[in-house]
Amino acid sequence: MFAGECTFMLGAAGLGQIPDTDLPEIAFAGRSNVGKSSLVNALTGRKAVARTSHTPGRTQQVNFFDLGAKLIIADLPGYGFAKAPKDQVAKWTRLVNAYLKGRQQLRRVLVLIDARHGIKDVDRGIMKMLDGAAVSYQVVLTKTDKITAGQLEQLMAEIRIELAGHVAAHPIIRCTSSAKKIGIEDLRAELARLVNC
Ligand code: GDP
Repeated sequence: MFAGECTFMLGAAGLGQIPDTDLPEIAFAGRSNVGKSSLVNALTGRKAVARTSHTPGRTQQVNFFDLGAKLIIADLPGYGFAKAPKDQVAKWTRLVNAYLKGRQQLRRVLVLIDARHGIKDVDRGIMKMLDGAAVSYQVVLTKTDKITAGQLEQLMAEIRIELAGHVAAHPIIRCTSSAKKIGIEDLRAELARLVNC
């Protein structure tokens, strides 16, 4: 499994900077503040690997991490800032589309959803974009420690119904809490299986 060194490779702000490697890759996407950095950190076992950016308008980039020279994690810029200006959204879409296009080593995109909020329209937009690009993706719930078991059950039931209408969505929903270390081992094992390491 990818328990080895996790190193930050680079942050790509444009197509020309996306690293040219043939290692298998997993991308992480989600609304800003969904808990993406915390999850990447929990999975890689390192503190403060993924740099958090909570400021709208900051340079958007895809951050690449190398895990033990076996797997690359692509941390996509957070989307859905409440006050994101239109050109910022267009820039995000251009960068992420450029990244997704022809990224043959990309095994899966994890679409992170805050368990308190469920799937929002902006997430649906991303899911549709991934459907259209035929990129396999999987919903990963974050911050499940913030809701009750009953609420989680209901949320999962709703999401399962919604996912059935998306062609590229993986049917299994992962539940995680980086704070309480719930679901981290299972997700890590699944990623390891995906990339055969
Ligand atoms: P990002 O913007 O998606 O990278 O989100 P961060 O990882 O920076 O997390 C955003 C906020 O949510 C921070 O205040 C985190 O402490 C908090 N957070 C992240 N994961 C969890 C979790 O599993 N449980 C709880 N309760 N809070 C979390």
